[in-house]
Amino acid sequence: METGSGKKILIIEDEADVAELLTLNLRKAGYRVSTAADGASGLHKVRDDRPDFVILDLMLPKMSGLELCRILKSDAATAQVPILMLTAKAEEIDRIVGLEFGADDYVTKPFSPREIVLRIRAILRRAEMANESLTAGPISIDPARHEVRVDGKQVHLTSLEFKLLRVLMQRRGRVQDRDRLLNEVWGYESVIDTRTVDTHVRRLREKLGRAGDAIETVRGFGYRLRES
Ligand code: CA
Repeated sequence: METGSGKKILIIEDEADVAELLTLNLRKAGYRVSTAADGASGLHKVRDDRPDFVILDLMLPKMSGLELCRILKSDAATAQVPILMLTAKAEEIDRIVGLEFGADDYVTKPFSPREIVLRIRAILRRAEMANESLTAGPISIDPARHEVRVDGKQVHLTSLEFKLLRVLMQRRGRVQDRDRLLNEVWGYESVIDTRTVDTHVRRLREKLGRAGDAIETVRGFGYRLRES
């Protein structure tokens, strides 16, 4: 069994047997687990205990899972905490993981505990990668502080330009097609045209000055940050 490296997971779920099943399996996978049985006490626990991850049921007494998700994701102090939603209602899924509520992923009931453990691991890995500082030639980014520097001088980017640069730097040397960039930077629900990607890449290059030349256009496909 792989270790969960002692990360703290909070389960907010009113069905005791579901909470128990999850607790058991997550502890076995090496996580520290606490639980809350309604939305209001879940909110308090997130604020007081600062978990590394939240599993949130959609239907909860006192405050719904969606409402709680919205509150957590719109508060700077808790917005970074990944949220995996549990739902029995397939029709809510688009709203759950879309821009509206901002959950990181969802699992529909009934679920397999193994599936949940795998999802958590993937989401935590993604979150760690997203916060890593990266350097490519004269460009460096610090995602935790939302800072970009070129030759040590700070460059101000919009949050979309920042995400775009981060993705290109994370996959340095590999071509990223426009659809994939759209998906990762704008979100999968996005109805934006792929030409928007071109516009933002152009602005990003301009802001980076000469260092921006490292972003290469791969004709008819997408973009690549050159290995330096
Ligand atoms: Ca429930």
